[in-house]
Amino acid sequence: MGRRDAVQVIVEVVARMRLLDPRLIVTYEPGWEKRGNGTSANYEGGIWHHTATPTSLSRPFPTQRLLRDGRSDLRGPLCNFAGPACTVERPTIHVMAAHPANHAGASGGRSMGPLPKTSLFNPRVLGLEIDYAGNAPMLPGQRHVARLWARAVADVVGGGDINRVRGHMETSVTGKWDPGYAPGKTEDLNRLRRESAALGVPQGIPVIGAIAAAYNRKVLGEATWAFFLGAPKGTEVGTLDKVGRWQEFKAGAILYHPEVDSGIAHVVWGDILQKFWAMGAETRCGYPTTDEMATPDLVGRYNHFAHPDAGVHFIKGAIREKWAALGWEVGFGYPTTDETPTPNGNGAYNHFTGNRSIYWSPSQGAVAVSGEIRDAWAASGWEAGAGGFPVSDPVVQGDVVTQVFQGGTATFSLKPSVSFQPTG
Ligand SMILES: [Zn+2]
Repeated sequence: MGRRDAVQVIVEVVARMRLLDPRLIVTYEPGWEKRGNGTSANYEGGIWHHTATPTSLSRPFPTQRLLRDGRSDLRGPLCNFAGPACTVERPTIHVMAAHPANHAGASGGRSMGPLPKTSLFNPRVLGLEIDYAGNAPMLPGQRHVARLWARAVADVVGGGDINRVRGHMETSVTGKWDPGYAPGKTEDLNRLRRESAALGVPQGIPVIGAIAAAYNRKVLGEATWAFFLGAPKGTEVGTLDKVGRWQEFKAGAILYHPEVDSGIAHVVWGDILQKFWAMGAETRCGYPTTDEMATPDLVGRYNHFAHPDAGVHFIKGAIREKWAALGWEVGFGYPTTDETPTPNGNGAYNHFTGNRSIYWSPSQGAVAVSGEIRDAWAASGWEAGAGGFPVSDPVVQGDVVTQVFQGGTATFSLKPSVSFQPTG
């Protein structure tokens, strides 16, 4: 009954674990697809181990190299999967080798379950080396990973039979006692199997990765976004830029871009979602950098958005207040610079998308400058030129835009200037 497609088995075990807990963090030892002890896989079960090495959250994975390269008396790899120290909130597993590894020796120990007695056990069982000393219990996060892994291995290579996952103590013929919880004492493996079998695979459409992190984020007290958004309407899909990802739920959407807000996904819902769709969604508004939040007066609601090409920039103080008064991103574009002091040190500015800036000076406060007047002002040397700092926001009267600067008034006509010359 064993499975010989080793790489595919690993991929399926990881996918199954993710389905059981979308928070799972998976790391891969480079070359894992090719790594093995030279024998061919015929996987039909799995073995839990401890590494007998003390670990902690600050030193989570000291045996990484040993498990890959082996030791003088036993060459590597020494496992297929490793379980570094981790928390339940950030369960972590490391893929070491797809092909059989040197972890199980010969089988025929005291409690084999349905697994075979053989002198060559490694090709038959995947090995998880949980990185902890064994003379004290594994961390709760590691125990969680051990259960996820056991359930996934049973489902992927064991026809769903959790009894095909054993502890090394049960199969060893050389007196191994891992995985332990005290010196010479092995975990209650029947209990660990019961707990693994009891893990529920969520029904319906999966919510995974960064989107799951937002979906499970607490909003009010213990209530998460899942409570407000309801069930997913479809699976996660790519955005139009082919880089971002989004997923629609009954009452809203969650989206992210790996280069916006460190790839954290955020929620858009309600009236703002309607406006977001109407305005061209992320292609024009950018990606949300906050979940929808109440304004300080508790009447309004807002999201902040950012474009991946604009980056994340700091807006503060009077310039931020001005930006807010102009309608944030929707009214005045996205910041393309952090707040920057003017060269003469007398003021500060942010530039924004769409040929816009907000300049601040102690005497004039924060003033917006945009369009053709900004072009002309820039050409004259910005605030260091004859115009000096802007004094007030531009005023549109009819077809004429005027803006007062310290050095005088700038004027621009919106009316096309066309004159007809007699053709003779
Ligand atoms: Zn072992």
